[in-house]
Amino acid sequence: MKEYPGIANEIIASINAQTSVKSEDVKSQNAFANLFKCTHSVQDVIKNHILENEDEDPFFVCDIGQVVRQHIKWVRNLPRIEPFYAVKCCGDPLLLKTMVSMGTGFDCASRGEMQNMLNYGVPPSKIIYANPCKQNSHIRFASEKGIEMMTFDNVDELYKVKKYHKSAKMVLRVLIDDSNSLCKFSSKFGASPSAARELLEKARELGINVIGVSFHVGSGCFASSSFRDAVLVARNVFDIGKELGFDFTLLDVGGGFPGSDNENISFGEVCEVLRTAVDKYFPAHVRVIAEPGRYYSASAFTIATNIIARRIVKRDGSDDGIVGNDDHPSFMYYINDGIYGSFNSIMFDHQHPRPKPLCKNGQFLFDNGETRETEFNCSVWGPTCDSLDCLSKNTLLPELDVGDWLYFDEMGAYTISAASEFNGFKKSKILYTNTETTEFLKIAIAAEQSKNLN
Ligand SMILES: *Cc1c(COP(=O)(O)O)cnc(C)c1O
Repeated sequence: MKEYPGIANEIIASINAQTSVKSEDVKSQNAFANLFKCTHSVQDVIKNHILENEDEDPFFVCDIGQVVRQHIKWVRNLPRIEPFYAVKCCGDPLLLKTMVSMGTGFDCASRGEMQNMLNYGVPPSKIIYANPCKQNSHIRFASEKGIEMMTFDNVDELYKVKKYHKSAKMVLRVLIDDSNSLCKFSSKFGASPSAARELLEKARELGINVIGVSFHVGSGCFASSSFRDAVLVARNVFDIGKELGFDFTLLDVGGGFPGSDNENISFGEVCEVLRTAVDKYFPAHVRVIAEPGRYYSASAFTIATNIIARRIVKRDGSDDGIVGNDDHPSFMYYINDGIYGSFNSIMFDHQHPRPKPLCKNGQFLFDNGETRETEFNCSVWGPTCDSLDCLSKNTLLPELDVGDWLYFDEMGAYTISAASEFNGFKKSKILYTNTETTEFLKIAIAAEQSKNLN
């Protein structure tokens, strides 16, 4: 119990020390490096926490080192593209502080998100207010704070900006094909090429500064070709801009980068496609930024949940709880986080998180990889009184009992950020660890510094 919260405190203290340094000076390097003194595997943290606590509450473990690894991978694969992390994806304070320390920018969608990032000491120039439909008072806030980059896709937005934000640098969000993505945005946002022309003409007339073009291929994109097609659409709108007398200098390629590689798409493949398209269609003086969310946060979080109740369903459908020899029962497991909490991603983010056995009768199962145990058809349910609170209707799991644990990995994107406490179930707490070395972190910082020098 003492050790891990202790570590979290140490991380908080070290990053706090870092972010309270206002000017971007060298001291920050040393303070942030302290974070990297605490190294325990995610599995060790989970195991120790379960052994040392009797409250059975569900909990996340966040591996800050994984966030750093994702960043290094980004810098190496997409050296020309500056990441502006999409805060809505996961606003965990330590994750954000890690991102701040590594020098990324931030994509904010509201006054609250902008205020939050300014509080971390992020300079206004490193924030893009990337919501094409904004509330007036939030625009005024951006103006007061010196946040200049904002996206738009409709004419009313131009009138608002004219009125409330004199120094805005507007970025036109264009409509692209998002049919290859789990979460589609095109029904809500984006200007078609013909609308783009009209908007740019209007912007001219109003004397509004438009500096470039943005798109979003949709979140959970599963076709790397979507990125190439979108870059082409953006090129087309750059050309329209040129005809109308604009000289765009910013391309924003949005989010949609995979949080983990799967059979449909890998980060490497997206980078290859994107690098090639961007270099082919956009000269070197065009600044290129992106708004990755899922890419940074998904793989950094693992959640451990306790089986608080179960129901044995016999083959004939009766549930008298008595298992006969040839009954081949199935099990309904009730765990203590669900659809209304961290697993809201099943509803809103179209995810299918896979439960894995974590601890059975005091034995930790992830230690020895595959279990040899017979698996049964199971369903997994959340703790609330709503029957919609089902995490998995049909999955294979060994026979587990009340008090055993299940875990789910890659649970950092669009989970914690939209969780509620419906029915009085508290949000799952978060423990922190780091599985990366100081050396690796130094690479991250050095990469950022060399960029700043250029
Ligand atoms: C949600 C969102 C993102 C992040 O998308 P990911 O798929 O998580 O990378 C980026 N930009 C905008 C405008 C968004 O709305």
